[in-house]
Amino acid sequence: MTDYDFPSSEASTAFTLTPIGRIASDYPDKFGIPRQPGLASTARATLTLAPPFDDPLTVRGLDAFSHLWLTFVFHQSPTRWTPLVRPPRLGGNAKHGVFATRSTHRPNRLGLSLVELVKIETHHGVTLHLRGHDLVDGTPVLDIKPYLAWAEALPEARSGFAPAPPPSLPVTFSATAEAALLRRRDGDSLRELIRQVLAQDPRPAYHKNAQNTSERRYGVRLRDVDVRFHPSASNGIEAMHVEDIVVASSPA
Ligand code: SAM
Repeated sequence: MTDYDFPSSEASTAFTLTPIGRIASDYPDKFGIPRQPGLASTARATLTLAPPFDDPLTVRGLDAFSHLWLTFVFHQSPTRWTPLVRPPRLGGNAKHGVFATRSTHRPNRLGLSLVELVKIETHHGVTLHLRGHDLVDGTPVLDIKPYLAWAEALPEARSGFAPAPPPSLPVTFSATAEAALLRRRDGDSLRELIRQVLAQDPRPAYHKNAQNTSERRYGVRLRDVDVRFHPSASNGIEAMHVEDIVVASSPA
């Protein structure tokens, strides 16, 4: 299958886009980030606007909106893309056209996410506090648009191979993990973030189909901690069990 990069002849019609700001996120790594916004509603982020976009006038009236569209760059994805991709949702087997998916590997590497606006700070420049996002730390944002539910909410729309949110697994915590959470001021919100992220079963698709998966141990980095977990079965139902939560030794 052909893979494409941008031939130089296209350069003349290319557009130069300048990030208006960058994300600081609860997700230091890509691994474990839910596949769409809203699946982990407790995930926090800030978007700090860069000069000259950090003029408080640029966000006058924005606090009247509860949700925002963010257009961003998948800056941790390669520029190369292929016409067909394997949506993880389909177990990594079936192939779909790149434009029929929300793949991170796509022409122009553009992403679009609907996030909740918590508050806006304009003391020193502009910082937006956000929730429920699916963005890795450092993501460059190209544009912000207020969400218009009357124009954009279409619950009856057909959604192809992704007609509903992915299933959500039960998540249990060991006594050691609970003790670690009790020692933290953000313990409650971190427990909920861990629960929401692991409920999405972040394991690679090919691990999920493999045998004896319960032997494997996994780690996901959230905020400043490493969360150690493994698949388990509770009452015959697949679940995720958090063994331990340790402060990360080195920055991501
Ligand atoms: N909601 C967006 C969209 O539909 O365009 C993103 C969907 S994409 C499937 C979500 C995944 O993008 C996350 O699970 C994470 O692994 C990945 N991701 C988030 N920020 C990224 C970045 N800056 N560069 C590359 N991948 C990123």
